[in-house]
Amino acid sequence: MTDIEREIDGYLQRLFPITRSITGEGNRETLRILQELIPLEMLEFPSGTPVYDWTIPPEWNIRDAWIKNSRGEKVVDFSRSNLHVVGYSIPVNRKIAFEELKGHLHYREDLPQAIPYRTSYYKRTWGFCLSYEDFMSSFAEGEEYEVFIDSELKDDGSLTIGELLIPGKSSRENLISTYICHPSMANDNLSSVVMTAFLARELLKRELNYSYRVVFVPETIGAITYCAMREEEMRRIDRGVVASTVGGSGRYGYKQSHDRKCSLNAFVEETFAERGLEFDTYPFDIHGSDERQYSSPGFRINTVTISRDKYYEYDYYHTSLDDLSYVRPEAIGQSMEIYLDVIGRMERDFFFKNLHPECEVMLSRHGLYPAMGGAFIPGDKVVNEIDVLLWLCWHCDGAKSLHDISAETGIAVDVLFTYASKLEENNILERMC
Ligand code: ZN
Repeated sequence: MTDIEREIDGYLQRLFPITRSITGEGNRETLRILQELIPLEMLEFPSGTPVYDWTIPPEWNIRDAWIKNSRGEKVVDFSRSNLHVVGYSIPVNRKIAFEELKGHLHYREDLPQAIPYRTSYYKRTWGFCLSYEDFMSSFAEGEEYEVFIDSELKDDGSLTIGELLIPGKSSRENLISTYICHPSMANDNLSSVVMTAFLARELLKRELNYSYRVVFVPETIGAITYCAMREEEMRRIDRGVVASTVGGSGRYGYKQSHDRKCSLNAFVEETFAERGLEFDTYPFDIHGSDERQYSSPGFRINTVTISRDKYYEYDYYHTSLDDLSYVRPEAIGQSMEIYLDVIGRMERDFFFKNLHPECEVMLSRHGLYPAMGGAFIPGDKVVNEIDVLLWLCWHCDGAKSLHDISAETGIAVDVLFTYASKLEENNILERMC
């Protein structure tokens, strides 16, 4: 193991046992540990706050939970695995017949040794998760059990988000987001929580063209809260990454951004190709992680997710078998290098904005028309200089990068850059970064 892999391993070991959810002390403890690596701000948003169509739920914390059989033996015990309790379970302390209890027990017959991961954030209920093997050996018809869940749903609690702004030369920002709401599962998503912290630490050491907004949010409600509370900033962002499931030993995969033409997708594919790595491509889909929020019509941020054993795709997904033996620090380190490569390509991609967006500029008035009319530029597509200038003026709305324009026009990026710079000298375009 390299030094950084050893460091990653240390954080995996420390963070894995913590009980995380969409709110609660476990999330704060997780972020406090990450503060050793990066200067994360911890933001608290009160329970009950409306965020668009949602409301921040009460804060959930749990101390203990178990099921005892009639002989007083604990047959399910939260202290052995925090996956044993359905996330957001309400408190309970009573005797219960098997016939009623079984409706509160969750297991997977198809994966008999695994404790499944279940939550019930918005419907108040309680439940236990256990392996099918334990279910078969420890429970019987006609028996009576005692169930105990020492949990709390605090109406005056809050939802916690970790935020870090990494400044670059330009104030134009890219987004880096990952989710912190999963309890003890290693690939989904402790691997990405740890990777994102190390990635941010690396970016803090670099001279950057763009600024980066790094957020650790509970999935869905946290991303929605963040969008609502940082609406103006988030509306200005065009691109980013959502890190998920980066630590397996299986295949690489990437989920494309909502606009398939966005050059971010090409950057990922170029990175894989350059490293000789095979990968699966997942087109954008309305299911998945927080790209669902970031790419909604109000924000339309193009984000890609690069994974190693992507969520949904591996057998141990959302079970106790997704443990520390399933992920490798080396894989997390390699995934980080791939994300850094993609970010490096974003760093070398520039945006220009037309300062005269209303109708065409009169190129001759700026001395650009007669001087260069007619010269042809070789490339994928044969175009003359006037075409390049006109296409640049037409495309440069500040939201499309030179790589995006190149993909659409077939004109090479370096040619576009040369002519965009000429237009900039003539105060027709402004470089935004
Ligand atoms: Zn998940």
